[in-house]
Amino acid sequence: MDQPRFSKLFVVGVGHIGSTLLGRMLNMHPDIICVGELLRLDHAVDNPDEHCSCGTPLNMCSFWSRWAPKFPESVKRDYLQWTPELIDYIRTGEGKKVIVDLSKTRSYRLTKDWKDEDICYLLIVRDPRGVMRSALHKGGDLSDLLPRHKKWIERYESFAKKRRTTCLTVFYEELVTSPETQLQRVCDFLGLSFFPAMLTPDSKTHHFVRSSGSRYLKSINKLRVDDRWRTELTPEQIERINKYPGKVDMYRHRYQ
Ligand SMILES: [Zn+2]
Repeated sequence: MDQPRFSKLFVVGVGHIGSTLLGRMLNMHPDIICVGELLRLDHAVDNPDEHCSCGTPLNMCSFWSRWAPKFPESVKRDYLQWTPELIDYIRTGEGKKVIVDLSKTRSYRLTKDWKDEDICYLLIVRDPRGVMRSALHKGGDLSDLLPRHKKWIERYESFAKKRRTTCLTVFYEELVTSPETQLQRVCDFLGLSFFPAMLTPDSKTHHFVRSSGSRYLKSINKLRVDDRWRTELTPEQIERINKYPGKVDMYRHRYQ
């Protein structure tokens, strides 16, 4: 029986980095449960239009209709009220060894000062041009998106450097082109065995809060790099993006 090194894994990174894909892959592991963006349950509970990734409104989904009433009202109003104990309550209730949350910036804000030794992080990094294409598609302007991106990616880079033993960095492009190697790395990091089912994340229903509805996820068992930025961004936009986060080490040698 595997005894993992950590019980709580927080996926961090900017938006539009493929975290839902990684979450679905991890959720295929028999010892892991991924709940999506748990720390955004407050928005989800307030919004009757919010659907679980299973396709059902959150308050009618078989998973969340069972769990949501068990949480104190405080966490449904303010994500900073979540505690390690409450998160573990879901994990043990589901009989799993590791729970994965995909709330990214919120996970960072909530947990960066937690002292628990069984908490770890997975930083996903993606070509900033791909990130910006998705962000622009959702509506936004590079003048706002780029400074915010720079602030977060620098913050994450120094976070990962300080936590070499508890924060693993995964690059989106490698996850998609060599999923087995990358998932093996993640399993080694957690102290769990790799399961081939992780490579076919479409083969079961997932119950994620606030998951990405990207059509690139619809036939996820066939993985491919989403590089639509090459045709959808203008040369001027690409130049601006290339220049902006230029001081980020993780980008410098990889995305030129
Ligand atoms: Zn559901």
